[in-house]
Amino acid sequence: MIYFDNAATTKPHEEVLQAMYEAYINLYGNPSSIHALGSKAKASLEDARSGIASLLGAGQDELYFTSGASESINWVLKGSPYPIITSQVEHKAGLESCRYLQSKGRELMYLGVDENGLIDLDELDDLTKAGGFLLSFIYANNETGVLQDIRSISEIAKKNKCLLHVDGVQALGKVPINFEDIDVDYMSFSSHKIHGPKGIGLLYMKKEARLSSLIHGGSQENGMRAGTEDLPGIMGFAKAIQLATESMDKNKDIEKLRTYIETRLVEEIPDLKINASQGPRVANISSVSLPGQDGARLLMMLDMRGICLSAGSACTAGALEKSHVLKAMGLDQAYIGGTLRISLSADNTYDEADIFIKALKDIVNK
Ligand code: PLP
Repeated sequence: MIYFDNAATTKPHEEVLQAMYEAYINLYGNPSSIHALGSKAKASLEDARSGIASLLGAGQDELYFTSGASESINWVLKGSPYPIITSQVEHKAGLESCRYLQSKGRELMYLGVDENGLIDLDELDDLTKAGGFLLSFIYANNETGVLQDIRSISEIAKKNKCLLHVDGVQALGKVPINFEDIDVDYMSFSSHKIHGPKGIGLLYMKKEARLSSLIHGGSQENGMRAGTEDLPGIMGFAKAIQLATESMDKNKDIEKLRTYIETRLVEEIPDLKINASQGPRVANISSVSLPGQDGARLLMMLDMRGICLSAGSACTAGALEKSHVLKAMGLDQAYIGGTLRISLSADNTYDEADIFIKALKDIVNK
């Protein structure tokens, strides 16, 4: 089996599973219980939070565990009272939250993007001059890997007195993220994109930008997010963040493998186009379009040969929707329909790349 779908989800690391197993066996007490097992669980929970806080340059009281990035994103967008400025190339978690809020009367604006999927910073500056907006932008795009210039966006947000939320899901472990270094108010993260368990996410919420809770009930997470904590999931996530931040240099090798794949595909398959290739991108994602081909058919044929990847994003692929991201980038329909997303991890090899390229060429030539 060749797994080239790491932007959809990743295989958990052995060390992550080990940390989770330890938690299931030894930390099954409820962190809210007063007895010894509860206290032990609570101490481990706070150790995990403080470990993540120091890796991200955040305060311990600025990190909230959630069920995933979708929840984190919903929390910020629904919890903040301000008119929202976002982009047309957000993940569905952002776009659908916005659509819901719009139906409830919230003011919203969607910025377009250029052919590389980047927003126009001058336009953002002009639109936000009056201040008082919540800006929400995806850091690394889940379909193309393109990186918005979050540092400049943050400078504009602060200059114009706006709050800034960043969807950091596909950027975590791919680019350095340190909140002492960059001024954002909220950032959403997900564990399962970095070889951690599914069903666990994180919201960084700056002390000065605290929102009320989205989920009411018990007083977990400092009274901000009710529900008994998934300690094994949190321990696994903490381990995954540690491994991802410690092994950032592996991204150079992943990028070399991606360059190898892209170079060969362009040379060997006529008219194939690499999307957002001129933008800054995370190392592991490549979006390629084959004009006139049916992406769903390509996926199926590759799947039959034991190769797993996505057409556009995984969430839209199930519904066979055409990518809103590529459409916003102005790509022709003929190209959008024939798009594959190759998303790599450090586990992938050049042999796998060769098998994939040969298989794709065979399928296209038939
Ligand atoms: N944002 C981006 C950029 C994503 O790629 C994803 C996952 O597909 C999400 C948000 C949602 O994350 P989760 O699966 O943790 O809810």
